[in-house]
Amino acid sequence: MTYLAVPISEKNIQTCKEQIKTAVKAGAGMLELRTDYIETVNIEKVKELIAAAKQTNLPIIVTCRDTAEGGQNNLPAPLRSQILTEAINLGADLIDCEYANFIQSNFGEIIKKTLAENKKTRLILSAHNFKAPFGNLDGIYEQMFAAFPQAIAKTAYHANHINDCFAAFDVIKKYGNKAIAICMGQAGVISRVITKKLDAFLAFASIEDTAATASGQITVEKMKKQYRFDSINDETEFFGLIGDPVEHSIGPVVHNACFGAEKLNCVYLPMLVTGGQVQFNEFLDNVTARAWLDMRGFSVTIPHKVNALQYAKTKGEYIEPLAAKIGAVNTLTVGLNERINGYNTDYAGAMDALTGAMGIKRKQLHSKTTAVIGAGGAARAIVAGLAEVGAKITIYNRTLSKAQSLAAEFACHWAGLEEVKNIDAEIVINCTSIGMHPKIDASPVPKECLKPAMVVFDTVYNPLETLLLRQAKRAGAKVVSGSEMFIGQAAEQFKLFTHKDCPMDTVRKVTLEALGEK
Ligand code: NAP
Repeated sequence: MTYLAVPISEKNIQTCKEQIKTAVKAGAGMLELRTDYIETVNIEKVKELIAAAKQTNLPIIVTCRDTAEGGQNNLPAPLRSQILTEAINLGADLIDCEYANFIQSNFGEIIKKTLAENKKTRLILSAHNFKAPFGNLDGIYEQMFAAFPQAIAKTAYHANHINDCFAAFDVIKKYGNKAIAICMGQAGVISRVITKKLDAFLAFASIEDTAATASGQITVEKMKKQYRFDSINDETEFFGLIGDPVEHSIGPVVHNACFGAEKLNCVYLPMLVTGGQVQFNEFLDNVTARAWLDMRGFSVTIPHKVNALQYAKTKGEYIEPLAAKIGAVNTLTVGLNERINGYNTDYAGAMDALTGAMGIKRKQLHSKTTAVIGAGGAARAIVAGLAEVGAKITIYNRTLSKAQSLAAEFACHWAGLEEVKNIDAEIVINCTSIGMHPKIDASPVPKECLKPAMVVFDTVYNPLETLLLRQAKRAGAKVVSGSEMFIGQAAEQFKLFTHKDCPMDTVRKVTLEALGEK
């Protein structure tokens, strides 16, 4: 069992006590009393804090961190050592002592002796690096166990890249419940959740973002509600959004809600992959080399959609033909023997949004006159989807050369953006960012051109109702929101990830709630 430990890190005992109450209410499974945070700390204050924490019946760790390893208030070594020994005498379940201090005889011997006299208390030996990963991570664990075989060995290091997390997974795989490994920073976020699957001794979470004691710490609420921490076990499968940036994406909220609705033992995480093709390849190589992590699939966003296609081409097993034609992959699944498959659900999501609103099948788009405004990534996916079913497409774009080359590839007509005023099509699709937040007073189509017989589809989903859609509605046209495309592509991904139909009510409700909040 992996404890969900919440640090108590206030400056005075009264506010610490309040923080303890909040932590219990939030669902903490363990409390870490960071006594180094207490101003003018002394033994009496520590005693009072331990007594308050013990009333919760939660296991407690007492820590008095050295400033050299991220502690507060620059406390002298004799006081830190005294606080830890006193905590043992007071029956703390665990104390956390820096390995570097533990091996100093004047610091470690008294702790060892006190532990020998109080068998109930366990020792966490810890090492921290706030700048970078440790060189030989496994070597550190070996040294810690050599110094005190009954210890729980802990490292916390800054992940410069998500690829730095895999060394942490390897040590937890090896030592399980005898170890803790935390990767700090945005790139390390996945370590805080995934190590539970590997049976790490604990994972830290904060009560609120401002109470985090280390960068990248997730709140208890998010751990439990969004990342389904309590349900994670050794059979949990992981999925995620690969991109840069990823922190503001609604993907994790939507996919985790769908997993929850279907009672699937799956968790979806944001996976910040910085860099280009090389770093992207390293990430997938790391994943596929560790089948035991059960990372089974990924959504892919900016800037990696082309990198994902390249990876699938060189090292993968299957690429959906239309994804290859579009030149971008937004979904990867990890198949049998850890082979990668690549798909594009953007086009499928757009086609489903359009045909769903029109009440027709995809093939019935054949011969429909369609105006696609824009010639970027979204336009490319939609043009490919429409061309496949034989729609008659005209591409309008600000940069003529882009309209021209996209039109040449898919045998369409093309024109400049200023030609939109002469638009005469059954279906109009905006694939530019015109009208997107914050410039919500703009529309790519003059309102006079909008006709009752038209179907107007705006891929922009922020705001949910763009000026184009508002004006189209007023003109009596049928409208399709970008949120429907998002819902459609997420539903397709769910199917590819789980081989089950997506719970459409859930995906729609959660997507609209999440987008409405933006
Ligand atoms: P992209 O590859 O960067 O392409 C942007 C397109 O917008 C280009 O055609 C560009 O024209 C045009 N554009 C941008 N600013 C413009 C302006 N001020 N005036 C005229 N044209 C302008 O981006 P993308 O990935 O295709 O995304 C485009 C839109 O699709 C975004 O708003 C995004 O929210 C939406 N989208 C929605 C979904 C969904 O699930 N609903 C999925 C993907 C994308 P130039 O070629 O002249 O630069």
